[in-house]
Parts: sequence; structure tokens; C-alpha cells
Amino acid sequence: MLDLEGADYGPAIAELQGKVAAGDPYIDKLRAGRNRPGVLRLVLDLKTEVKPQVFTLKPVGEYGHRLVIDLYPLVAPDPLAALIEADGREPRKEPAAPAPAPAPGKPKVARMATIVIDPGHGGEDPGARGRLGSREKDITLTIAKRLKALVDAEPDMRALLTRDADYYVPLQVRVDKARRVKADLFVSVHADAFNRPNARGSSVFALSERRATSEAARWLAKKENEADLVGGVNIDVKDKYLAQTLLDLSQTATIDHSLRLGNAVLGELGQVNTLHKARVEQASFAVLKSPDVPSILVETAFISNPAEEKRLNDEDYQNHLALAILAGIKRYLAKHPPRPSPVALN
Ligand SMILES: [Zn+2]
Repeated sequence: MLDLEGADYGPAIAELQGKVAAGDPYIDKLRAGRNRPGVLRLVLDLKTEVKPQVFTLKPVGEYGHRLVIDLYPLVAPDPLAALIEADGREPRKEPAAPAPAPAPGKPKVARMATIVIDPGHGGEDPGARGRLGSREKDITLTIAKRLKALVDAEPDMRALLTRDADYYVPLQVRVDKARRVKADLFVSVHADAFNRPNARGSSVFALSERRATSEAARWLAKKENEADLVGGVNIDVKDKYLAQTLLDLSQTATIDHSLRLGNAVLGELGQVNTLHKARVEQASFAVLKSPDVPSILVETAFISNPAEEKRLNDEDYQNHLALAILAGIKRYLAKHPPRPSPVALN
């Protein structure tokens, strides 16, 4: 039940009630009415217990202030986790005991790797726009979907998209989604733009270390009253100095792995496109700041370069890009197989 102060019952609210589909997995009914003068009451009849995540969005373009309520089911976490569970190869909850050492001579069976793919932009945030009219948000979604299909076709990998249609997802929510499914890797897909139309080539970014420390501090502050699992270490936030140190160590190790992943992907992208920069660059992208998930941002090509824009719209070329990213991920995973499920230290 939600009481919105200073909100009026209007046509937009009236329409809301019809927007819950009959087959909605979580919401049975939505009702709205004036509770008392100046207070609008929204009632969501739920089919299951949920853990809501609430955030606000500032006005953009034709949209005013928005209140967004994401309902995550309390029990079955999400389709991906359910898929992994059903697969039986990776029980989600493992006893908090060290894994037995593999028998000598027998290859260690790695668990399934979870790759979260993040199509950049979406909804009211179109991203960059090409001279021929392509929008970055559409290109990123198409390439991300192709990459997801390729990842899912691998026997030991599963992919999840942070968005699967044209809507806006705040950057922090994208990071949260990856952490929620205990992603092994996070790959954000973009298409660069520059004011010179001849700028060209692919590039790959990782988070920069200097920024990481302050982001880690900020992240820690947000989690002040809540113990959380970071990099397999259950942080007791009552000891702030220790927690900060553990978090910094985790972030530093994560950036190191992000750079390894980035190098592998960059090497493969160099087979299908010119490279804009020969090295993985580091910058303060908010979407890359998971302290415990190696994360990269791939600028597939320059949408602002008409020749590259044309290729970005070409199905074959999109597949080449997706295949290159997949090959890079596989090269990284071959050297760094998914770590065993973290064991909480109390
Ligand atoms: Zn972008």
C-alpha cells in the first residue's frame, strides 16, 4: 500500500489499473483512490511476497518526476537464478564449508558462468544518435540480444540482460541486477559518438582505480546499516575501517580482472574492427562500479561515423561484434574459471 501525498486522482492514475496484465507473475490487482484530501492511495494486491526497490527519476524530455517501484519476488529470485537452479549444475545455496579438493588427475569441474549483458541507454535516454538516424539505445539492445543468444548456446555459460526492451534502467539498478544474480562478469554494450565524424574504431573501458576508492566509500556509506557479501567476505559494517579496507581490496582485485577481461575482448574486437585505442582505457563509468564483479564497457564502434553507423546496422556485422565479445569472454574464462560460490566468513 502506497500513500502519495500531494498527488491527485487523475486520468493517468485511472489508467494504471488496467495496466496489470492478467498473467502478471507478481501483481494480482492494482487499485487507486483518494484516501483523504491531498493523499492518493495505491494498493497493489500481490500474488507473492516481494522485496521492493524504490527510486525516483528526474524529469527528462517529455517525462516529469517519476517514482519507480521494482518488485522483486522474495522467494524465487529471478528467471536466471531459477534457470541455474533447474539446471542442477549450480545449487544456489551451498553449505558454508570449504569445497573438497578435486581428486588428483581429475579435471576440476567449473560451475556455470553467469554473464550479465547491459545494453546501454534505453527509453527516454536514446544515447548517441548517428547521422543516418540510428539511435544508440536500439543498436546496443540488438547487439546485446545477439550476444546473449551466443552466450546461452555455450554449455557452461548463461546470460542475463539488464533490459530486454526499450526502457530506461538507472545505472545503479544495472549494477544491482548484476550483483543480485551473483554475476561472474558484466559487459555493458555501447556505440560511441564524437563530434568529428571520422573518429572510428572499437574501444573497451574498465573502472579507474582513483575513482574506485571514492565509489567504494560511497557504496559503503549506503550500506551503512546492512551487512553485505562482498567478494565472498561477509562484511560487518560495524567495523568501518576493516570494512573499507576489505572493500578497497575487493575493488582493486576486481579492476585487475576487469582489465584482463577487457584486454581479451579488445584483442578479439581487433579482428573485426579497427581499434580506437590499443589498450583498455579506464574511466569513472558508474555502471562499472560493482566492487566484486569484473565489469567492462565496450564501445563497439562510432555511431557518429557514417561508415561505422551503417555497419552497426548490418546483421552480419552485429554478429561479428557479438562473436568477438564472446570469444574474449571465453578467453578470459579459460584462464580464470568462475570462482566457487563464496563462503561467508563471520
Ligand atoms: Zn553509450
